[in-house]
Amino acid sequence: MISVISKLPQTGTTIFTVMSALANEVDAINLSQGFPDYNCSPELIELVNNAMKNGHNQYAPMAGVMSLRERIAEKTENLYGAVYNPDTEITITAGCTQAIFTAISAVIHPNDEVIIFEPAFDCYAPAIKLMGGVVKSLALEPPNYRIAWDMVKRLVNQKTKMIILNSPHNPTATILHKEDIDELSALVKNQDILILSDEVYEHLIYDGETHHSVARYPELQQRSFIVASFGKPFHATGWKVGYCMAPAYLMHEFRKIHQFLVFSVNTPIQYAIAEHLKNEQTYLDLPEFFQQKRDYFRKGLEQTRFELLPCHGSYFQSVRYSAISDEKDADFVLRLTKEFGVAAIPVSAFYTKGIDHHVLRFCFAKRQETLDKAVDRLLKV
Ligand code: GLN
Repeated sequence: MISVISKLPQTGTTIFTVMSALANEVDAINLSQGFPDYNCSPELIELVNNAMKNGHNQYAPMAGVMSLRERIAEKTENLYGAVYNPDTEITITAGCTQAIFTAISAVIHPNDEVIIFEPAFDCYAPAIKLMGGVVKSLALEPPNYRIAWDMVKRLVNQKTKMIILNSPHNPTATILHKEDIDELSALVKNQDILILSDEVYEHLIYDGETHHSVARYPELQQRSFIVASFGKPFHATGWKVGYCMAPAYLMHEFRKIHQFLVFSVNTPIQYAIAEHLKNEQTYLDLPEFFQQKRDYFRKGLEQTRFELLPCHGSYFQSVRYSAISDEKDADFVLRLTKEFGVAAIPVSAFYTKGIDHHVLRFCFAKRQETLDKAVDRLLKV
């Protein structure tokens, strides 16, 4: 064996892979990794077929198929009033995770500090560390996981290069409010701080709430990479097609990395999504579609001994199980999967220091019968 110095010595296999593998192994209902158990629309599949039949099977342009970039620009302008130039300010990526990695690697240098809010999606911190950056995390607390901006202020110094936002939030299902945006704007004003805004759940927001995309706020938009994907809105997480939007000076650097990381992304699917996006109902109908699932699942869970935490967006419902057990969440979730047949994600996996509030995350992007079966099993806990 040749000796190798690990670049990420503390990092194991992502919790999504671990829990999905276990769910499959013990034949549990998999409410862990976030993906639907129903199919994407037949029209979309037909559009992919057509794109393939029409010969769109070779490399896409490095930055992505132009018609798709144009649709994204239109959608962003219509929804958030921000104008992005599809030629220089939008790049199609292999899902959001690649967009996040690329944005971080494009601008983070050794010793640059990046502020993240934990629990945080598990790919942020490793990407920062790989670039030699320093993770400055602020731990948020259940049930509301609100950001205390005075605490953020204390973390900011000369070395702060980036703040990573995620709204609607994975795993806590919270959303940023206008007050948060105001605090953030005041904080970064006249500072050289970039923003990476993970908006992958932009269309999964409930109870008539507004998605406060940073694209709505010019002073934030000018310093932001916004990343999103089509996997969640179009029920096709396996297609791995997402995008990044940023002002040209940032996108210029982003593409320097993107071109050598993936060069370009799956061509026929880009053509198909570009066509699909022409009908704006494909995304405008999503809040209602998912809110129904959220409400249905929450109603079921109300009968159980799990304590429901608020859910304003995303396709996740978190629960506290303190009334049931004082086991660590990582242990409890294994028992829940093996003994009761329902897999979830332990939220401590989203804290770099493994903070455990006895909270689990369930994905409710599932057929009604799957949710029924899961609730039946959770009633026995
Ligand atoms: N975003 C999804 C989740 O939170 C899946 C992510 C992944 O498997 N990389 O479950």
